[in-house]
Amino acid sequence: MTWIDTHCHLDQPVLSKDIQKVIKLSKECNIEGIVVPSTCPSNIDEVIKICNRFDMCFFALGFHPFFAQNISEDDLKKLSFLLIEHDAIAVGEIGLDKFSGESQLNIQDEVFQAQLDLAEKHDLPIIVHARGMIDRATQLIRKRKIKGGIIHAFNGSFQQADQLIKLGFKLGFGGVISYERAKHIRSLAQNLPLESIVLETDSPDMKPAWVENECPNEPAQLEKISQVLCHLRGVDARELGGILKQNTIEALPKLSKLYT
Ligand SMILES: [Zn+2]
Repeated sequence: MTWIDTHCHLDQPVLSKDIQKVIKLSKECNIEGIVVPSTCPSNIDEVIKICNRFDMCFFALGFHPFFAQNISEDDLKKLSFLLIEHDAIAVGEIGLDKFSGESQLNIQDEVFQAQLDLAEKHDLPIIVHARGMIDRATQLIRKRKIKGGIIHAFNGSFQQADQLIKLGFKLGFGGVISYERAKHIRSLAQNLPLESIVLETDSPDMKPAWVENECPNEPAQLEKISQVLCHLRGVDARELGGILKQNTIEALPKLSKLYT
């Protein structure tokens, strides 16, 4: 069975310094696609460059809430241009983070809304980071005609999940489901409709339980993460893989390029 990592920061130096090896190991571990979102104006070029080098990599372009306070009007205009010029698969990583010390929430809110407007304008799905801010993110999404996408590293309530699923979103789960103590996230991964779930590593962060401290997380780990989900759901890899592939393409339709 093959898997798509729907969220990975391959441009982070700990991965990019040995990118050939990271990609080779991913392929050996049956990863057939990797989605790489940008996070700020200064990493867009690198993200595009990496994805253009490897057929299995696809980029989303956007500004992460951590960097919201440094985003200018010009940055947003440039983003609008680049999304079309480079045929990005989504607008992302965008969102709101209640626990980000650096970027004030009102500024995050403005930058998130500006990027939601771009997603609506260009008819693109979104990849959303919404830590502690799911209700506000949902409210802002609901006001616009957004094509769906992925709520990455989902850690909300079942009720919040339900609202987002109704708005056409898939919910991203990663290595955290491998920790026994992550009871809530494991319960979400176990009980949400399987049709609403996609997998991600969020590497180099969010290490699964078995990755040694000194090692970075990487897309190759997705295969083992998928085994954890199989176990939680009581399904085999073939069944899970088929459903997740379909979910992922529903969330990010341009990934269907992988199969043409
Ligand atoms: Zn991310």
